[in-house]
Amino acid sequence: MSEIKTLNTGEKFAHASVGSLHNFEGKQFVKDATGATSCEISFGTLPTGGMVPFFHSHKENEENYIILSGSGKFQVNDDVFDIAEGSIIRVSTNCDRNIKCTSEEPMCYICIQAKEGSLEGYTMTDAEITEHTSLL
Ligand code: ZN
Repeated sequence: MSEIKTLNTGEKFAHASVGSLHNFEGKQFVKDATGATSCEISFGTLPTGGMVPFFHSHKENEENYIILSGSGKFQVNDDVFDIAEGSIIRVSTNCDRNIKCTSEEPMCYICIQAKEGSLEGYTMTDAEITEHTSLL
């Protein structure tokens, strides 16, 4: 099981890492390491033939799965479809879901859960270009 470490924090940020995704194993939730207030993010991996050992459903949060490596199948209630590196799957509330790795390489994915319908402003309706001296 991989660990998450908080690396840097400041008044306005937190930086955490699970380390190399090539060596990542198991499931790791991020919120406690970064102090996130708007969503929960988790990293997950599945070995060849592996699936999450249970179906689950969320009452208020939708989930967005981002597949980083590997391929396999995703099931939402009785719908099944193929997924692969680069896939993004949004799953609504009140339905059962599961994910299975069928590739020779392990499947690595990120799951972001946030309250369904909560997104209001985003990108350029929420962001503004600011003037700041680069220290990079
Ligand atoms: Zn979930």
